Amino acid sequence: SAQEKKEYPKPEAMRPAMTEFWTPQPKVVTPGDIKTNSAPSDAIVLFDGTNLSAWKSCKTGGDADWKLQNGVMTVDKSKGDIETKQHFGSFQLHIEWCVPENITGKSQARGNSGVFLQGMYEIQILDCYNNKTYTNGQTGSIYKQSTPKANAMRKPGEWNVYDIIYNAPVFNEDGSYRVPPTVTVIHNGVVLQNNVAIRGTTEYIGHPKVEKHGAGPIKLQSHGDPSEPISFRNIWLRKL
Ligand code: MG
Repeated sequence: SAQEKKEYPKPEAMRPAMTEFWTPQPKVVTPGDIKTNSAPSDAIVLFDGTNLSAWKSCKTGGDADWKLQNGVMTVDKSKGDIETKQHFGSFQLHIEWCVPENITGKSQARGNSGVFLQGMYEIQILDCYNNKTYTNGQTGSIYKQSTPKANAMRKPGEWNVYDIIYNAPVFNEDGSYRVPPTVTVIHNGVVLQNNVAIRGTTEYIGHPKVEKHGAGPIKLQSHGDPSEPISFRNIWLRKL
């Protein structure tokens, strides 16, 4: 018996509209004012120069007690680290910091501070303007893990800007990373870390550890080095 020859309908020819999506439309975010460098409309403002109410002291759990003057907060080394009361998963963080003009000291003992992502992983802050240190400990390093791709420091007395994009990790049941945390760090418009996987906790001595955790705060470091304390301003975060 002869096989019947079947004719199938030809697929419709592709038209431009077939690969264009119209819904849902991305939400409208009003960007910050370029002149005043204000936060975008959907950002959580963590510090706008008026008060430290978004922060608490890591040491006491009470009010954050760093110095507040002229819209700027300055580390008080006698008071220890501060962290946000609110906890976050993945985010985009904007934070500005300034090393005082009269800074002294060298290597890690010169304007040392840091931003801890989810309270766990330190992006180093240090005065690296004409100040050599180990490369995986310089400004914009994932401390002791990943050397920054460039040194984009402004000189002491000038404001530096960090824009940090952070993806929180996903854990296996046994506490190992199924997806490690990743981070992009832009310093004064220059990419220092490009979607780099974080290997674990920030350790001064020894290797990173993987510790299961959930949402966490933004923590700012009050480093014990004897150099003059650095300042912060204009801190905001957008949840991702
Ligand atoms: Mg530090």
